[in-house]
Amino acid sequence: KQILRLILGDQLNHQHSWYQQKDQNIIYVMMEIRQETDYVNHHIQKIIAFFTAMRAFAEDLRTQGHQVIYLTLDDEKNTQSLTQNLDNLIQELNIEAFEYQQPDEYRLSEQLKDFAKKSGCDTEHFMISPSEFSEFFKGKKTFLMENFYRMMRKKYGILMDGSEPLTGQWNYDADNRKKLPNNHRPVEPLTFDKDVSKMYELVQKQEIKTIGRVNPKAFIWATTRAESLALLDFFVENCLENFGTYEDAMHPSYWSIYHSRLSFSMNVKLISPLEVIEKAIKFWEENQDKISISQIEGFVRQIIGWREYMRGIYWGKMPDYETLNYFNHDRKLPNWFWNGQTKMNCLKHSVGQSLDFAYAHHIQRLMVIGNFSLLAGVNPNEVDEWYLGVYIDAIQWVEITNTRGMSQYADGGIVGSKPYVASANYIDKMSHYCGTCFYDKSKKTGFKACPFNSLYWDFYDRHADKLSKNPRIGMAYVTWNKMQSSQKAEILKQAEIYLNDIENL
Ligand code: FAD
Ligand code: SF4
Repeated sequence: KQILRLILGDQLNHQHSWYQQKDQNIIYVMMEIRQETDYVNHHIQKIIAFFTAMRAFAEDLRTQGHQVIYLTLDDEKNTQSLTQNLDNLIQELNIEAFEYQQPDEYRLSEQLKDFAKKSGCDTEHFMISPSEFSEFFKGKKTFLMENFYRMMRKKYGILMDGSEPLTGQWNYDADNRKKLPNNHRPVEPLTFDKDVSKMYELVQKQEIKTIGRVNPKAFIWATTRAESLALLDFFVENCLENFGTYEDAMHPSYWSIYHSRLSFSMNVKLISPLEVIEKAIKFWEENQDKISISQIEGFVRQIIGWREYMRGIYWGKMPDYETLNYFNHDRKLPNWFWNGQTKMNCLKHSVGQSLDFAYAHHIQRLMVIGNFSLLAGVNPNEVDEWYLGVYIDAIQWVEITNTRGMSQYADGGIVGSKPYVASANYIDKMSHYCGTCFYDKSKKTGFKACPFNSLYWDFYDRHADKLSKNPRIGMAYVTWNKMQSSQKAEILKQAEIYLNDIENL
């Protein structure tokens, strides 16, 4: 009986049970298709990273003795549609059974369920299944991440002493989150600097519309399991000791600070979340004189907490989630999101490095780019599309929950208990952006006043009906209501001027 097994571009899991045995009756298929390059405009580095990683994975499977059909973008037989290609192969090869792993994206899950008339097999890629996730939150009023995280720590016995947290404390956030000291130079990021010119030319020749920039002679991202493991080693040896402390820090000269940049490798399943944290914990255990508990706890929380949590929310709330727009925001994103040309230094650098590296770290995504989009009232569809396109690690299950949910509060509070908005005060506290900015971080109104300062109050004022009763925001409204009406009017006027001139900020 001939079996055709599909491997999607984000299912590059060498350890999957599928590959434990070789079977001459099983043919694996992988394909580079326009359906996937075109559903949104992707960053050029994202497309190159996916296809390069897929090709290397197919090669590895072949070396191990598996049969693999790989349709390149320019293969004559490639119809560029997933299901059409599958239909053709099934006919041509006299296939009797078709198998696939459950996709992580709703869009593909529906397409394949329609095609195969059955669901895919367990992916083995995550630490908790969507059904266990909904079971955990069943009957609870809110989806508190912290509760979920503690359950995961207990379930896997991670940093635990019996049923208690190892050091008596679950969360070390309060010790973390420092600005980089002046003259502090973070470690240079490990990059792989591969020549991907051929892939670059193929993407150009096929006239795929992309965003962002690339140096095809020195491609920085890990695209194989070996490189991903090297990146993990580099992280634990060089970055872990400062990870928590500078997790939220931002600097115009340093694009990745002490972040791991493992999201792409994990999201395409080249490495598993469990092996990442096991490696990090082992290194911490052996180096406790150098690495404090707050660093390792902060890192573990991102992966077994936030990452798994977002996936659970996604499968619990799709497809409705992608239509949510709690504030009814409808503005277009300004054009400078595609070229970084704005006088706002924080945005110039955060957007600029996103275009240069297909990467920005969490706080740049949340408290600079997302914060501005929310304050300006941009339509969450536009924001989602940009994030889904620009980042190397952007796959809808983790992109939309972070963007539409955590960052834009378009879900009305499923992921976060209040909108993440801030004025220049916060950005200045965490970054070195404001000092050399065209705008004045301390001014709310008038010449060169920082746009974040007026937009912040304008946002709260516009949405008082939806937000003023939220106990976590109450203080902001107390401050706003204490201001004299002339001052309020001036601030609102300033915000209006800026919003009307958003393209030139
Ligand atoms: P590190 O800072 O080194 O963190 C380690 C790992 O923790 C990450 O690799 C990631 O797997 C995990 N992690 C940390 N925070 C989160 C989170 N909030 N949700 C899920 N996993 C998390 N992450 C994506 O993988 N894809 C996305 O498309 C994506 N879009 C985002 C959009 C917005 C608006 C925001 C605020 C965050 C988004 N994130 C996304 C989460 C986070 O910003 C990235 O995972 C992280 O910046 C990736 O870089 P890193 O590997 O260096 O992370
Ligand atoms: Fe950003 Fe305002 Fe600071 Fe400039 S002054 S970097 S616009 S927060």
